[in-house]
Amino acid sequence: MAPPTVLNSGEPDARRPHVVFVPSAGMGHLLPFFRFIGALSSHDVDISVVTVFPTVSAAEADHFAALFRDFPSIRRLDFHLLPFDASEFPGADQFLLRWEALRRSMHLLAPVIAGVTPRATAVVTDITLLSHVNPIAKDLHLQCHVLFISSAAMMSLASYFPVYLDNKDAQADVGDVDIPGVRLLKRSWLPQPLLDVSKLFTKQFIENGREMVKTDGVLINTFDALEPVALAALRDGTVVRGFPSVFAVGPYSSLASETKAADAESSALVWLNQQPARSVVYVAFGNRCTVSHEQLREIAAGLEASGCRFLWILKTTVVDRDEAAGVRDVLGDGFLERVRGRGMVTKAWVDQEAILGHPAVGLFLSHSGWNSVTEAAAAGVPLLAWPRGGDHRVAATVVASSGVGVWMEHWSWDGEEWVVSGEEIGKKVKEMMADAAVRERAAKVGEEAAKAVAEGGTSHTSMLEFVAKLKAA
Ligand code: UDP
Ligand code: UDP
Repeated sequence: MAPPTVLNSGEPDARRPHVVFVPSAGMGHLLPFFRFIGALSSHDVDISVVTVFPTVSAAEADHFAALFRDFPSIRRLDFHLLPFDASEFPGADQFLLRWEALRRSMHLLAPVIAGVTPRATAVVTDITLLSHVNPIAKDLHLQCHVLFISSAAMMSLASYFPVYLDNKDAQADVGDVDIPGVRLLKRSWLPQPLLDVSKLFTKQFIENGREMVKTDGVLINTFDALEPVALAALRDGTVVRGFPSVFAVGPYSSLASETKAADAESSALVWLNQQPARSVVYVAFGNRCTVSHEQLREIAAGLEASGCRFLWILKTTVVDRDEAAGVRDVLGDGFLERVRGRGMVTKAWVDQEAILGHPAVGLFLSHSGWNSVTEAAAAGVPLLAWPRGGDHRVAATVVASSGVGVWMEHWSWDGEEWVVSGEEIGKKVKEMMADAAVRERAAKVGEEAAKAVAEGGTSHTSMLEFVAKLKAA
């Protein structure tokens, strides 16, 4: 038997993995990265994070700063983007443009990663950058993993969609997509840009989806009890043959730094402290505005008509640095006065995980962004899903199938002209607040989530397997 290797003190441990994270842009993408990095930092690994300044939004800058402040051992690898002419894509979303700018600069990443000490052993990147980052990692003989920011259902769509296009008649429109072993996704549930394969988003989506199978593994913020069918089909190669290792390691916990970054949380939480148990509807549609102002006014009318207490996180712009209209401008005169005492509306960044964990919250009216779904699942709070766009309807299929909540499938989403009336919203909110069975199902999911991340649970075990894989590099 070979003698054990004895290392001199001070000599770097050659077996200790060094993981270089290459995140993308947008809080929905960055928060899961930060949370996963926080969780991984308690294991025996070195961590570096590729960082691009300036960020698109102020919230992104705040959270990057908090990460490096709270985890001093994590190295920051500054990365400079090449000049990028956005006029090529008139009207494109600023976050999508940042993804494209990142993708076009990714070849400059190879020397950055090759130059780190101790030597890098693995790269973990965002799906939006995968088709550029995976080849770089492979050239450097490093493991490459994807940290996927959405559900296993969405992962199955992302990896199967290129196969679906290859097999369909090239002239035919994109239709329903029947993902082998997972489920049929109706055409109207797909992220809207996927219906047009010439769109920038769709080109990226297809290239990145094809690359997935060439990676060493995918990390997903989900857990086996939440998405048993999609996870099994990914793992056994039913979705795409030869699929890499799947590590279902969620739900992630927020970092202490997020609580600090939330300047309004104290007032929102102080207000919640004064409300009776399970009496408050928490309303939030993600970190940017995804609802027309006309629809926002109907939501206001619905909340008022429901008679319920509510806490509403209202975003009025896509990027928080933009000039923003005030709450009063959007919701109209008199609303705040009429609901005084039973309703709170804030535009600030809040600590959503703390809010969902508060005993006063009885329902979450949400756009069903995946991070929000997993946070509701972890808290065991019923979610009333009103998808707005992107992957939200795919996420809503999981909300409905898992017991986290109820999906209003016929409510409109971005690009559909009609608005859902305040009367209908108010009725549904009131009904769900009174529904004991819905509450019970959500609570059960919360128990499963806690079991998954506890020692010996499926997500805990998956995390240990991921770390073992890193060590085998
Ligand atoms: N979030 C938060 N405070 C806010 C707004 C958003 O903590 O004021 C967090 C929320 O908890 C979630 C993430 O931002 O973790 C939003 O991600 P999600 O996938 O739900 O939606 P997106 O914003 O990407 O559409
Ligand atoms: N996505 C993907 N490949 C890509 C770009 C995005 O699979 O190249 C996925 C992403 O993980 C998310 C969905 O497509 O689940 C929509 O992306 P986006 O961040 O725009 O979502 P939104 O914030 O609009 O919900």
